[in-house]
Amino acid sequence: MQKILIQNADAIITCDKNDRLLKGCDIRIEDNRIAAIGQNLPAEGAEIIDGRGRFVYPGLVNTHHHLLQAFSRNIPAIQSSELFDWLLYLYNVWCNVNPDYIYYSSMVAMGEFVKFGGTTMFDHHFAFPRSSKKEIIDREFDAAAELGVRFHAGRSSFTRGKSKGGLPPEELIETTEETLVDSERLIDKYHDPREFSMRQVAVAPCSPFSVDTDVMVESVKLARRRGVRLHTHLAETMDEERYCLEVYGRRPLDWAEDCGFIGSDVWYAHGIHFTDEEVARLAKTKTGVSHNPVSNMKLSSGVCKVPLMLELGVPVGLAVDGCGSNDASNLLNEIRIAYLLHRLNSGNKAPTGYGILKLATCGSAELLGRSDIGSLEVGKAADLFMINVDLLDCVGAVMDPMSFLGTVGYTRPVELTMVNGKVVWKDGRLQGIDEDKIKVAARAEVKKVYDKIEG
Ligand SMILES: [Zn+2]
Repeated sequence: MQKILIQNADAIITCDKNDRLLKGCDIRIEDNRIAAIGQNLPAEGAEIIDGRGRFVYPGLVNTHHHLLQAFSRNIPAIQSSELFDWLLYLYNVWCNVNPDYIYYSSMVAMGEFVKFGGTTMFDHHFAFPRSSKKEIIDREFDAAAELGVRFHAGRSSFTRGKSKGGLPPEELIETTEETLVDSERLIDKYHDPREFSMRQVAVAPCSPFSVDTDVMVESVKLARRRGVRLHTHLAETMDEERYCLEVYGRRPLDWAEDCGFIGSDVWYAHGIHFTDEEVARLAKTKTGVSHNPVSNMKLSSGVCKVPLMLELGVPVGLAVDGCGSNDASNLLNEIRIAYLLHRLNSGNKAPTGYGILKLATCGSAELLGRSDIGSLEVGKAADLFMINVDLLDCVGAVMDPMSFLGTVGYTRPVELTMVNGKVVWKDGRLQGIDEDKIKVAARAEVKKVYDKIEG
């Protein structure tokens, strides 16, 4: 049995139900679980990690990403675009996606995620070009396994192309049957519902302006038959709302509800343009919302009503969104920005820095249907990260370790990230990964695609 003892941590921020903050305590890890938390725990047979001058937090859980967008960042042509124009440009890039492209973009984005305390990643992958092999999400699972990241894959789809009044080009359009068959293949191959699972699958049609009602309804049937979760983009922009009213004669949430795409096994990305009555409906049905503040700010989409959602009991998690609209995969940064955004927008009704941290840990875990991650408690998975606060620039800033990440912000990579009891990032290196080799190959993938587009 592998044993690790984190000893004498200045602070352990548990994010448990009692919001416990422990000072000068140890965490004992046995294999993949937390075996004990307390003072002066026995060190016998354990590898010791010195926690002095360090804060330890539960690993961060991301509830919405598009890993393919690691190679869609900082593009001059779309620096000032909003969602629809931004997408219309990027669809041309995404027509070139193939399994190798996805593997390398996943290594880039998830590598960054881990360096900033990320331990569980949900990805929402929608680009399956007709000219490419279908084994695209398989390569995301490969990258996650190499990096040691706990990975949830959302099998997304586009079924409403330009010819049917949708936004995406025909090269990216699948039939309902194609997407359902591949979703079921992925569930059979990868979905592991057991405690401490490292691989799960969700069924996740893309958005109201890129899918048909039919695929929404059939996705609900498939997910509920197989016991997996449902995810989609909803209420992200006013353009989307106008589209729904014109095409479906319904507001976005009404349309989703008509499809049966609502409930405690469903979470939506963004959820910005809900009325107060609709937020109450989310609370009543326990439908979750993934909050993506940086993306919402970059694409000028609006501000999610997070304070009202929390007040009414809507499950809310945090996410970076695709890194094309971020342009990073850094959830520590997202915590800081979310804190400031809601302070600006809602004053004293805004969550504290600790309130935002809880969105990124236990809140996000709930959206993914996980009760075994998201807090530091005996019996839970050993997913955590540790930061060094014994630094000159932290002097005078560490009075409230629970709110520290929101109110002060931590802008450098963390000292150590652990997933499922395994250290995946420490000493400034992704463990077991040749970063230089991956960097060269990933750069070649980017060049191949952009040479083709620009040529
Ligand atoms: Zn998205």
